[in-house]
Amino acid sequence: MLEQQLQLKHTHLRNRLVMGSMHTGLEEGWHNRKRLKAFYQARAKGGTGMIITGGYSPNIRGKLTPISSSFNNFYDVIKHRAYTDVVHQNGGKICLQLLHAGRYAYHPFNQAPSAIKAPINPYKPKSMSIGSINKTVKDFAHSAKLAQKAGYDGVEIMGSEGYLINEFMAPHTNQRDDLYGGSLENRMRMAIEIVEAVRASVSDSFIIIFRLSVMDLIPNGSTPDEVTIQAKALEKAGVDILNTGIGWHEARVPTIASMVPPGAFKEASKRLKDVVSIPVIAVNRINTPQIANDILNAGEADLISMARPLLADPELFNKYQSQQSKHINVCIGCNQGCLDHVFKGKRATCLVNPQAGFELDYPLTHVEKAKNVLVVGAGPAGLSASCYLAQKGHNVTLIDRKQDMGGQFNLAMRIPGKEDFNYTLTYFINELARLNVKIELGTDYAESMLDSYDDVVFATGVRPREATFSCKDGKRVFAYDEVIRGEVELGNSIAILGAGGIGFDMVAFLSESPKQTINDFKSQWGIECDAAPHKDSRQLYMLKRSAGRFGSELGKTTGWIHRQVAKQHGVKQISDCEYIKFDNQGLTINVAGEEQVLPVDTVIACIGQVSNNEALSSLDDNPKVHVIGGAKLAAAIDAKRAIYEALQVARTI
Ligand code: SF4
Repeated sequence: MLEQQLQLKHTHLRNRLVMGSMHTGLEEGWHNRKRLKAFYQARAKGGTGMIITGGYSPNIRGKLTPISSSFNNFYDVIKHRAYTDVVHQNGGKICLQLLHAGRYAYHPFNQAPSAIKAPINPYKPKSMSIGSINKTVKDFAHSAKLAQKAGYDGVEIMGSEGYLINEFMAPHTNQRDDLYGGSLENRMRMAIEIVEAVRASVSDSFIIIFRLSVMDLIPNGSTPDEVTIQAKALEKAGVDILNTGIGWHEARVPTIASMVPPGAFKEASKRLKDVVSIPVIAVNRINTPQIANDILNAGEADLISMARPLLADPELFNKYQSQQSKHINVCIGCNQGCLDHVFKGKRATCLVNPQAGFELDYPLTHVEKAKNVLVVGAGPAGLSASCYLAQKGHNVTLIDRKQDMGGQFNLAMRIPGKEDFNYTLTYFINELARLNVKIELGTDYAESMLDSYDDVVFATGVRPREATFSCKDGKRVFAYDEVIRGEVELGNSIAILGAGGIGFDMVAFLSESPKQTINDFKSQWGIECDAAPHKDSRQLYMLKRSAGRFGSELGKTTGWIHRQVAKQHGVKQISDCEYIKFDNQGLTINVAGEEQVLPVDTVIACIGQVSNNEALSSLDDNPKVHVIGGAKLAAAIDAKRAIYEALQVARTI
């Protein structure tokens, strides 16, 4: 199904896979032009039917930040020619996304229908005058006309996620009493005028996609009936394809994070499809061809948008079409390399594919003379290093003292909402077989091995840091890994020591709350969901030694979800505390100079890790030895750094 062509008015797409709009951080200025071209080239070459660019503002006040990209002059046309040409040369189509940020614009000149500040932006917007609205409509049309000159096949008008056009549609942000506020007809007037103006400024064959917010997920958003009317009116105004928008950025419902079930929002696309005759695109958490095909086969959408999955694997479509789906590097919805980077003003990349966005920076060149390389440790760093080294043409042997592969992946995938790590482990195992990596499990490293290899990569990972305070009455502090593996019996009142990523994962593990959050929201919208998961009745405490807010170091796009889960489960959080002893009375702690006893029967240490690097002490200066991942530095180790370091070490060997 995914491979079927889609005939539009005067054009056809070679298949139904659309790369959804995603800001990469390469859009601004001229200096990253070649990098962005290489990024699009890889995705078009990989078989993607149509690419939608990151968002470009039609005018200066609609820019997301003062340095964000706009598209409104002749120089933009010249610059973007490079992108459209390379996509067309590789058989794809490409549309420019036009995005006016409205009250989400992160600068003091932002505009909105009404002067109501967004909770996620310190800048209060100015209410737009009628003149300013008219000018903005013309700016959209002007940009679309230039986009056609630059060789684009169409534009996507961003009308969702809480940006300007969406703000006009929803009473939540539109409290005007003129022609553009009040009734639904008035609130959607600007959207319709933009579509009509764009349609009038481009040729008939030029594709107009409108991304319509089907579920705002905020108070006083558009109702389902209003969305139906908006969709029909947009079709009548000249839209060729409707894309499904889900949730404003300020919404407190997870929409794309890993705990959102696959294809969770397909019903939203189906609702659009039921009321219009133009093609509809399904979005959000569609990360495998299987899920995409299920949606298409069920008639829930005509096209499938994947943005992050094409960061994870630009060859996704080609692999699917050549029956090589098991070699697709699947997006796991973590946001760690993509959106968390973008929100920090860094270039987007991908946890499972650090070459994404860095195609020109981190190429892997095939070697002329193969080396014999030993990789020690089959966790995230060792697995990925073995694959990268073998891709370069080296003869790779991978050993691990355990009988199974995966290391920390095996723990991560048991956390509710992180099950997709299983895809990554499976991908690496399949790649090892494809690349003929020799695997010896149950094998410990011995110094005698050193002479048999040209290079040795140590990726021996980490183990949990142990708590050092006293335990009495036969009590013991459990390590997080033995809890996750189900090796120990837990009581009814549990203290989790540590409030980093592992501490919050432990809360999710013990409470199953992420799934509950999604189900609660889906039920509100009358969407069928799985049976409610078991709600744990245990009392959880979360303790940390440092002062300050819990979870402040978590990723920007998912940290709030973890904090929300802890809150929903009634986790009692205590900061700035010292751990004294654990006995039959409970856990004695000292908080701001005062001792107190928490009545807990179980204590779990999530207090960091230490490197497994004992074998390295005698190898410090050996030039053939390379150390990566947690074995190199245990602090703040995660799969993103492990795989990144694996790529970098492979590039040097
Ligand atoms: Fe997907 Fe995570 Fe990669 Fe982003 S960083 S594309 S969410 S796997």
